[in-house]
Amino acid sequence: MIRKNKSALHEKDGVSQPETTSKSSAQKIKLNRSKQPSVDEFVTEILNGSIPFLSRAITLVESTNAKHQKKANQILERCLPYANNSIRIGITGVPGVGKSTFIESFGKHLTHQNKKVAVLAIDPSSSVNKGSILGDKTRMEELVTDTNAFIRPSPSGTSLGGVAQKTRESIILCEAAGFDTIIIETVGVGQSETAVHSMVDFFLLLKVAGTGDELQGIKRGIIEMADAIVINKADGDNIQKAKIAKTEFNRALHLYPPKESSWQPKVLTCSAIKHNGIAEINNLINAFLQLTKKNGYFVKRRNEQNTFWLKATIDQQLKDAFYNNPIIVKELAKEINNLEKGNTTPFNAAKRLLDL
Ligand code: GDP
Repeated sequence: MIRKNKSALHEKDGVSQPETTSKSSAQKIKLNRSKQPSVDEFVTEILNGSIPFLSRAITLVESTNAKHQKKANQILERCLPYANNSIRIGITGVPGVGKSTFIESFGKHLTHQNKKVAVLAIDPSSSVNKGSILGDKTRMEELVTDTNAFIRPSPSGTSLGGVAQKTRESIILCEAAGFDTIIIETVGVGQSETAVHSMVDFFLLLKVAGTGDELQGIKRGIIEMADAIVINKADGDNIQKAKIAKTEFNRALHLYPPKESSWQPKVLTCSAIKHNGIAEINNLINAFLQLTKKNGYFVKRRNEQNTFWLKATIDQQLKDAFYNNPIIVKELAKEINNLEKGNTTPFNAAKRLLDL
């Protein structure tokens, strides 16, 4: 297991997350913890598929310490040419719908085919309640011991943007380490589905059959984002209800305009617990890949996503640089004081600060 509170775990200074939930990988940690590996060592080991080095590099990515971030950026830059050779799948659904059960079943299905599966999470609430998804090590019990799987809890962070950026960088590291299927799980807090959608190739919405009015309670925009809607828990008494839900979702999907990808989103049913319908979902994803790789959409979308993230990173860094500037810190306090006294307007105050 991972030894906590050892001073040698330098990278942990800036972060509060466990290194990994993967027991198998934790056991294999051979690297010398008293010595911080060089960028060269990190890159070589990650490209060799070393899970301990991958874990430790992700910890650097997640760190708020400036030195760690610098090193993380150097590692990322060197790993980037080896990334991209993967399928990135986003999975969302309300708590209890069966996300972890599904990911376990789907993940095992893939590892049995000798695929390497990395599971990452985006949970902006995890900094508040210490990881409501993936933080719990009892989840995905079989997958965590699978040597072809790597499971990493949601990074903690103050903003969704920050958490999402760290996850995106972790995707690159996982891909460089040879993981060909990256699953990003989110619990749908705030705008987290949009964040996940902006970094995946295929977006899957997990549902359960409810009381009949299936479209009630689904956040606006989620259906538009979905490439597949999977109705889970289609077993026992639920099979009939799941079939009805499938019809209703199919009808709803046809009301939306065709997607730019030319892909017609599909509705499937499955039982994650009984492993029914899992192969069909994988076939569907493969059909999507075949279509979008052939018509150019796959590459186009990844390029668009890269541009989006380039701009998002610049926005973030400009903002950070602005608010952390000592002059701005001082002058901002003055302007807030002036505002309170009614001596200025927000617009004049903003202009003065920006002109500085
Ligand atoms: P999550 O919160 O979305 O990750 O949901 P979990 O995977 O933790 O599942 C929530 C509950 O639903 C657990 O008690 C599971 O055993 C159960 N569950 C998950 N998938 C299925 C399924 O396919 N059929 C049935 N009957 N129960 C399931």
